[in-house]
Amino acid sequence: MASTTGKHHVVIVGGGFAGLGCAQRLAHHDDVTVTLLDRNNHHQFLPLLYQVATSQLAPADIAHSLRGVFPEQENIDVKLADIAGIDPAARTVRARDGETWTGDALVIAAGSQPNFFNTPGAREHAFPLYSLDDATRLRSRILGILEQVDRNPALVDRGALNFVIVGGGPTGVEVAGAIADMLAVTVPAEYRSLDASAARIILLDYGDALLKPFSDEAHEYVAKVLTAKGVDIRLGTGVKEVGSGHAVLSDGSTVLTRCVIWGGGITAAPLAGDGALAQGRGGRVDVEPDLTLPGSPGVYVIGDVANIPGPDGEPLPQLGSVALQSGVWAADNIVADFAGKPRKPFEYKDKGIMAMIGRGAAIAAVGKRHHEVHGELAHMAWLGVHASLMTGTRARIEAFVDWAWDGFTKTGGPHVLDRSAAAAIDWDDDEAARPPAVPAAPAP
Ligand SMILES: Cc1cc2nc3c(=O)[nH]c(=O)nc-3n(C[C@H](O)[C@H](O)[C@H](O)COP(=O)(O)OP(=O)(O)OC[C@H]3O[C@@H](n4cnc5c(N)ncnc54)[C@H](O)[C@@H]3O)c2cc1C
Repeated sequence: MASTTGKHHVVIVGGGFAGLGCAQRLAHHDDVTVTLLDRNNHHQFLPLLYQVATSQLAPADIAHSLRGVFPEQENIDVKLADIAGIDPAARTVRARDGETWTGDALVIAAGSQPNFFNTPGAREHAFPLYSLDDATRLRSRILGILEQVDRNPALVDRGALNFVIVGGGPTGVEVAGAIADMLAVTVPAEYRSLDASAARIILLDYGDALLKPFSDEAHEYVAKVLTAKGVDIRLGTGVKEVGSGHAVLSDGSTVLTRCVIWGGGITAAPLAGDGALAQGRGGRVDVEPDLTLPGSPGVYVIGDVANIPGPDGEPLPQLGSVALQSGVWAADNIVADFAGKPRKPFEYKDKGIMAMIGRGAAIAAVGKRHHEVHGELAHMAWLGVHASLMTGTRARIEAFVDWAWDGFTKTGGPHVLDRSAAAAIDWDDDEAARPPAVPAAPAP
């Protein structure tokens, strides 16, 4: 079925890896027009958020205007819209401001959001890392703490240099390594009177190993590298409560801190909770093997927001590579559908997983058998793979310049404190973190 323009219209919600992959594939089809909707005007390269948060890269290095991705593709129209509702039967989406878009095919690629698992105070006080906004907030909080301790070293006794990181997956490990490097290398160079040796980085995970999907050998390597960097790894331990000036751990202890970083898990984007979609495991939307919504063959749900069945029937992991490939596959199925041909079940090509642990240290499990490499080689592979995945040549060049500059000068990248609200700390706002009152001297 084609619209009045004689072209098939595809509406895509979300310009992340999945939505962008789908739009880029459809851009090659002159008989298809695409409306790409996103609440942000830019694509965000989430795997490098932690580098923005720790001042290694600038926000512009990892964000690319969605309109700028399609400068010459006249069949792709980008619209800034926050989608609030879906009508799968009508293949229509509705923006928060009421405007609607209807397609011959509809693609939902709305991604994930942090999951705080109902931990008291976490939503209000912890710093998640799932968007550019999160990363710049966290960067300003870290820099704000450093600025304040630089002026008043006594704040260290009030937990100012305690960083609590929740979750030992890639986000937690990468941010722990990056903060350790920042404190060891760039802080002494830029904050000459600040004694960073009093800092504590506590990395918590309820499980029995960091970076669980890797091998036992890799688990040992990660633990060794992070411990050498001074990270205090606490396995079998999580967070029970977060306050503005403290965190209560599951072992009952309290850590004074002004910076709890949340890498503790994700759940599907709020759009998945729209009553029209049935939510499965992790709040995500269960889809057919061909990526369509059960009972709605013209509606595709792809990337992080979907439970895409893998070869063993278990959902595929929430990874950039799964999202990108599912986007391209959905585009091919949409085109096949328009041509009256059968849709094909999604086949994921697993090229491996990798994680950065800090300067010169990374692990990569590559190829079908997940052959593992550690250390500098994995670090170089990590840089190459992530740069190649970034959208736009300019972003790649800028990231490489920043990484090279960082490597040679050790002074780090853009230490820009631009979110004054995130940096502002009221040191007396938390009862649990207040220093004990000094007893009044007895009257002579
Ligand atoms: C800190 C971090 C590190 C990671 N590291 C890696 C890594 O090293 N390797 C790897 O493979 N994967 C990594 N991932 C996972 C990877 O980034 C995700 O799997 C991938 O981004 C999912 O792509 P997506 O397109 O499904 O969703 P997203 O990339 O999240 O994109 C979703 C898009 O939808 C838009 N959107 C959402 N809701 C609405 C709405 N209601 N209206 C309009 N627009 C909406 C959003 O603005 C966004 O642009 C990491 C993720 C994080 C958070």
